[in-house]
Amino acid sequence: MLFKQIFERALTDPPVQSIRKSKSFHPSAASIQYRDPQTETVETHGGCLRAEWYRLKEEPPTEGSDAPGIMKMTAGNVLQPMVEHAFMVAGLWRASETSFFHEKMKYSGRVDFWLVDPTQTMADKEVLMPCEMKTIGKYAEAGTCFPKAGKMMPKTDHLLQVVPYIDFYGQYMPNMKLAMFYLGRDGMELGEHHIWLAGAGKYGCALKDEHRYIVVQNDTGVYELPWLTVRGIYKRTIELAKFVQKNECPPPSYEDQWDNRRIAAYAEIGPTFGRLNKTETTAVKKAIKKANEDNDDRLNDDARPFVQKGDWQCRYCGWYTKCRAGLSHVAKPVFRDTGDDELTPAAPPAVEDADAPI
Ligand code: SF4
Repeated sequence: MLFKQIFERALTDPPVQSIRKSKSFHPSAASIQYRDPQTETVETHGGCLRAEWYRLKEEPPTEGSDAPGIMKMTAGNVLQPMVEHAFMVAGLWRASETSFFHEKMKYSGRVDFWLVDPTQTMADKEVLMPCEMKTIGKYAEAGTCFPKAGKMMPKTDHLLQVVPYIDFYGQYMPNMKLAMFYLGRDGMELGEHHIWLAGAGKYGCALKDEHRYIVVQNDTGVYELPWLTVRGIYKRTIELAKFVQKNECPPPSYEDQWDNRRIAAYAEIGPTFGRLNKTETTAVKKAIKKANEDNDDRLNDDARPFVQKGDWQCRYCGWYTKCRAGLSHVAKPVFRDTGDDELTPAAPPAVEDADAPI
């Protein structure tokens, strides 16, 4: 066709490339790791330490994005003003794209926009809420934009992302809540969640700052998520800072193919766990049964995976080829002084704090 190729080329190979280097940590790459009591597997959520390390080391990505992928990534920038405009009309919008820098943890981020909470005032002043907006594809709309099986919940990666926001602004705005909006790219339905950090423990005692965890409220209820702690997220940040300081590439946080023990554990829990779908769960259970009948130790033979499945993060990773080929990195100084304050935090988080309970 006449224009389609030109259109795709303009997106994937623009005449002017946007270059945005940053030596600080990005909230969108915040992550956490914990042992899931159901599967006994170590589960990682959020950004990959190795991918973040490549970014901080200015390693050129080995993977490009196709035109639909770029369109999906930028759809939020196009749709967000539409949502903001509605709130401007309602008289609730106050600011957009405000940057912050979390001095202690070296996170730099940007809040999408700020709205007035119409239900409360404090000392006769407006109470503001930072807002984060996510656009989401058709298969993820249920549960984020509207209830699925009676429940709504933001994506875990998105919850981790807003912790540095809430932690930072919470210093100035006690009991602050953040509003997260999901807009379905297919159904155009707007989902709303309020997120904050629990300030009091089970027994009513105040939690230490770092032991606070995420609480989500939406139309389907209030959900406490005590495994998503500030401590867990910052522990990973400090771990990454240590790798950066040592100039050592971290091990992969994700697997592009799960081993058979992990697959079997996910199949045991079933499709509700969300790692394997119904068809895969059935196929894996059948394969395990057959292996047992045949006295075949397939469980420990990863050359014959029960199902071709791994972490989705690797499929979308810009450094996939480099990571999987085990290519050595180009050692470059990180956190060097480029004379640009915004891009060069004074230092990464103090590594001597790494093992301290935070
Ligand atoms: S390929 Fe996977 S493990 Fe490797 S850097 Fe990318 S996300 Fe991380």
